[in-house]
Amino acid sequence: MEELTDNEFKKMTLKNAVLYENRSELVKFSLKVIGEEDEIIRAFISVDEQACGGIPIGVKDNMHVKGFKTTCASKMLKGYVAPFDATVVRKLRENKFSVVGKTNLDEFAMGASTEYSVYGITRNPHNLERVAGGSSGGSAAAVASGEVIAALGSDTGGSIRQPASFCGVVGFKPTYGLVSRYGLVAFASSLDQIGPITKTVEDSAILMNIIAGKDEMDPTTVERNIDFTGFIGSQLPKMKIAVAKQSFGEGVEDGVKERMREFVKLVENLGHEVTMIDIDELKYSVATYYVIAPSEAGTNLSRFDGVKYGLRIPSDSLRDAYERTRGEGFGDEVKRRILIGTFTLSAAYYDAYFEKAQRVRRKLSNRLSEIFEEYDFIITPTSPTVAFKVGSVSDPLVYYMMDIFTIPANLAGLPAISIPFGEVGNLPVGVQIMGPRFSDAKILGFGDFIEKQLR
Ligand code: GLN
Repeated sequence: MEELTDNEFKKMTLKNAVLYENRSELVKFSLKVIGEEDEIIRAFISVDEQACGGIPIGVKDNMHVKGFKTTCASKMLKGYVAPFDATVVRKLRENKFSVVGKTNLDEFAMGASTEYSVYGITRNPHNLERVAGGSSGGSAAAVASGEVIAALGSDTGGSIRQPASFCGVVGFKPTYGLVSRYGLVAFASSLDQIGPITKTVEDSAILMNIIAGKDEMDPTTVERNIDFTGFIGSQLPKMKIAVAKQSFGEGVEDGVKERMREFVKLVENLGHEVTMIDIDELKYSVATYYVIAPSEAGTNLSRFDGVKYGLRIPSDSLRDAYERTRGEGFGDEVKRRILIGTFTLSAAYYDAYFEKAQRVRRKLSNRLSEIFEEYDFIITPTSPTVAFKVGSVSDPLVYYMMDIFTIPANLAGLPAISIPFGEVGNLPVGVQIMGPRFSDAKILGFGDFIEKQLR
């Protein structure tokens, strides 16, 4: 067998890794590259130097890998060791993957830059002064830098797609219910999905075939026999594609608009029918999400009370122990979300906020369903901007607004992919393709076709 070089390893796709016979060599390469790169990139919170024998993959550190720490990048769970494998991890193992490490994230997956981690900031491999995106920034950076062949992320409002977009790799959020979340530390249960971050669209499809499926440990999973690679490498018939007018609206960087125009032209040249549509409801999506997600998060995070898991700051009174543990254990952004969520669920404000947000969520879902009666896909940029400078965004509202294009897929439970499409000032741009529920294979097929035009 020919000797593999470092560079060949860094570029190796999952498709090729599956065919590669000497898998223990792949893990050695992965650990070597991590050793060389990660002091600067900081994609990993922990690395398994003893890993052996499989296809090296990174797993976001909010999913359980038995015997590994699950920190959620928090002080609260520092030192917590997972007592079991998440279902996705069990499936990876059964398919001869080797988890070489746990990747960095914004604390409890709340964020869009991986700056809110108690383990330090993950750097964008394309430009070390820039963020990697988030909250799965570690997973995206680990794939983009070639440290691992592929990675898993979780996506509540864009956390797979946006870091993939910032780091120039592929990120796929499946239809809600296709991938089990057993063993994922819950953020907002009606929105959370696990999905792949990979070098190519085909790799995401391959990984989906492994991780998807009904799981009795997660009652939200559904029985569907989808071959996610079913449309890979095939030319899809003429599609009807809607481009959201908001892709060219206020807040979207000029360079990103430019790439979007080129994308639309390419899709038209490939013979598909493109129509510009106004999705006015998009303007409510951020506000809706930032009521619903914190409400669910506040509830989910109540389990971290210093009694059951992780950090415990003892005190004479139980109440004081709760307060001190939670006061010291959570970072500012997590506290902000818990405060918002407690407020929006309080008796006096439930109707005005939570209940109203649920109604707007329904309205947005209905609008998207209507659009999908007529169109196969909706296209937008994944993010209105390219990766920003570390430390440059401090206003939470500015930070939240950047999720505008990714949030709708979570609110409506839809599948959506981010694929790299050109650059602005040497920084990658991602285009998002969103489809109706269970159109996952079709989205992957379409994304694969576009990606192959760019090679
Ligand atoms: N940026 C969004 C947030 O901060 C999305 C996070 C996610 O998908 N986990 O909540």
